[in-house]
Amino acid sequence: MNKPVLGIPQNTIEVLQKYDFSFQKKFGQNFLIDTHVLDKIIRAADINKDDMVLEIGPGIGTMTQYLAEAAGKVVAVEIDKNLIPILSDTLSGYENIRIINEDILKMDIRSLALEENGGKPVKVVANLPYYITTPIIMGLFEEHVPIESITVMVQKEVADRMQTGPGNKDYGALSLAVQYYASPYIVANVPPNCFMPRPRVGSAVIRLTCHGQPPVEVEDEHLMFDVIRASFNQRRKTLVNGLYNSDKLGFSKETIIEAVESLGKGASIRGESLTLEEFAKLSNYLIRLRKEE
Ligand code: SAM
Repeated sequence: MNKPVLGIPQNTIEVLQKYDFSFQKKFGQNFLIDTHVLDKIIRAADINKDDMVLEIGPGIGTMTQYLAEAAGKVVAVEIDKNLIPILSDTLSGYENIRIINEDILKMDIRSLALEENGGKPVKVVANLPYYITTPIIMGLFEEHVPIESITVMVQKEVADRMQTGPGNKDYGALSLAVQYYASPYIVANVPPNCFMPRPRVGSAVIRLTCHGQPPVEVEDEHLMFDVIRASFNQRRKTLVNGLYNSDKLGFSKETIIEAVESLGKGASIRGESLTLEEFAKLSNYLIRLRKEE
């Protein structure tokens, strides 16, 4: 087997020059050029030879080389067709990698994971394209892809949003979704000079360890997330008005007031003050009232 070599900036530059590669801004291409950061990601992902890793956006294969050394199998999905011949070259020494030239957002990842790993949960590891971080993470969760953990590089601000709780300005629908499905832990902050080209924002590596069972009991997940989205869509409104104004929910004002008051906090509270547990209670209460109607 080869040794991972692309984390060294000079080697990345050589590959880019050899293929006359031009970075595509629209694909969020910022390649990692720091071996310490790569080591940290691999350690945090806690990969062994029994694992299948799904990598989203391998780029020129920098992290893929490290993943292939550690994992039993790596499946990497890359949208940019210009990177495919480069990946065939940089990953030629590895026999446990499958490259798929596709848009991750258009793929049936659940079927892919089931086919490639026989139903065993996979580990997702990636330096994500920042323009689609949230749809990628939400897609993995909502489609119930069998996943053990997700260890990803994201924009620092997005990592903060995933980890925070009520009372913080960054708290929102993403925080609640991530915390419903996983336990988030920020592994490291990563400055722009660890990438080529340098992004304009700071980055962070976050590990999301997926729960076997959700931490709260929810009768209807879809309804809970509709309630959460409606509460944060109109941040400056009270929770009651936010829910009442939602096109999706369709509850009467009286029903909403009764459900909000059942939390014992008064009808004038805002959604941003509720914990995940309270959103679960609220949506369970609304479901019961709907059944009684
Ligand atoms: N993993 C490489 C590294 O760390 O150097 C590259 C990371 S770069 C931030 C993001 C990668 O995701 C790019 O290679 C980009 O082409 C790819 N990408 C962007 N949008 C994608 C999509 N919708 N589906 C799959 N890959 C995508």
